[in-house]
Amino acid sequence: MAMKMNFIDLQAQYKELKDEITQAMDQVLDSCQFINGPDVAGLEKEMSEFCGTKHGIGVSSGTDALYIALMALGIGPGDEVITTPFTFIATAEVVSLLGATPVFADIDDKTLNIDPSKIEEKVTEKTKSIIPVHLYGQCADMDAILALAEKKGIPVIEDAAQAIGSEYKGKRACSMGTMGCLSFFPSKNLGCYGDGGMIMTADSDLSVKLQQLRNHGQDKKYSHKYIGVNGRLDTLQAAVLRVKLKYLEKALDARVRLADRYSAELKDVVNVPFREEHNRHVYNQYTIRTPDRDKLQQHCLDNGVPIAVHYPMPLHLQESFKSLGYKEGDFPVAEKAAKEVMSLPMFPEMTEEQQDIVIKTIKSLKV
Ligand SMILES: *Cc1c(COP(=O)(O)O)cnc(C)c1O
Repeated sequence: MAMKMNFIDLQAQYKELKDEITQAMDQVLDSCQFINGPDVAGLEKEMSEFCGTKHGIGVSSGTDALYIALMALGIGPGDEVITTPFTFIATAEVVSLLGATPVFADIDDKTLNIDPSKIEEKVTEKTKSIIPVHLYGQCADMDAILALAEKKGIPVIEDAAQAIGSEYKGKRACSMGTMGCLSFFPSKNLGCYGDGGMIMTADSDLSVKLQQLRNHGQDKKYSHKYIGVNGRLDTLQAAVLRVKLKYLEKALDARVRLADRYSAELKDVVNVPFREEHNRHVYNQYTIRTPDRDKLQQHCLDNGVPIAVHYPMPLHLQESFKSLGYKEGDFPVAEKAAKEVMSLPMFPEMTEEQQDIVIKTIKSLKV
């Protein structure tokens, strides 16, 4: 009987780093500095270097990173924020939570990222931000997005939750927009042992505001300049992340190697991920496309190969966004992608033997 395969194997990485991580956590426990301990500032500095920007502001999740970034721009009722309908719900959810309106623009058929040519027609006087998502670990077409944003004077927030370490024309994710948001959810490319996130920015004034907003809008002890939130990053999580960050480049390279191997083996059977020549794709997900998705997915599951679908329903068709008034057919490219995508098992410690099982299983489906 073959070993059960995991979609991602968090234990494999934990086993490798266990001693170092335990030691880092013990230090936090011994110090009892659970809130804003030195590891938080340490990680913020290391992350800003890693992303090629100036400031990092640790927060309690990727969702809070987006939420607080929008708060810092003063976004609220009456405002509009343009984003992709083909993403995780958090990207647009935070816009609605602030009382503003998410406005969707369809995606590019090849990269599945927001299509810059579809953004301009959505811009109104109410547009206060654009949030491109670097889906699966590949940057959106930032030159075109930034050119349009600059022309209209609209700040760009990169949703880089899946794209830590990815590059667009040599620039790192989170170094291009006004702010960039990261998630340290365990399944992301740099994951902690619970929830965590970070906002990156080169703007020093904004960085101060973000630090205050995540901490009840506090500028001095018990003096509150803004209505803020309790959105800090735990010291324990920062300590875990500082250990893992040391091995991140190696892990990203392993993902790229595995992805290239998948693509070489599968390119004649399914549509393998399209990577723009100038992009470093970091494959948080290795996501293929096929019109026979449901059949292939079932075939894989029947043969013990776990599959995930990112995402089966675009956001404009979600019940939670019904009040926005969208309908089926509004974003045909996103709707088609939602029917065709499926993500294959992918984690840096995956062996070639494990990968061969996935490849063989996919090739064995007679359609
Ligand atoms: C994971 C994710 C988020 C949210 O991050 P959390 O840390 O889970 O709150 C936001 N956007 C995208 C694209 C994501 O993949």
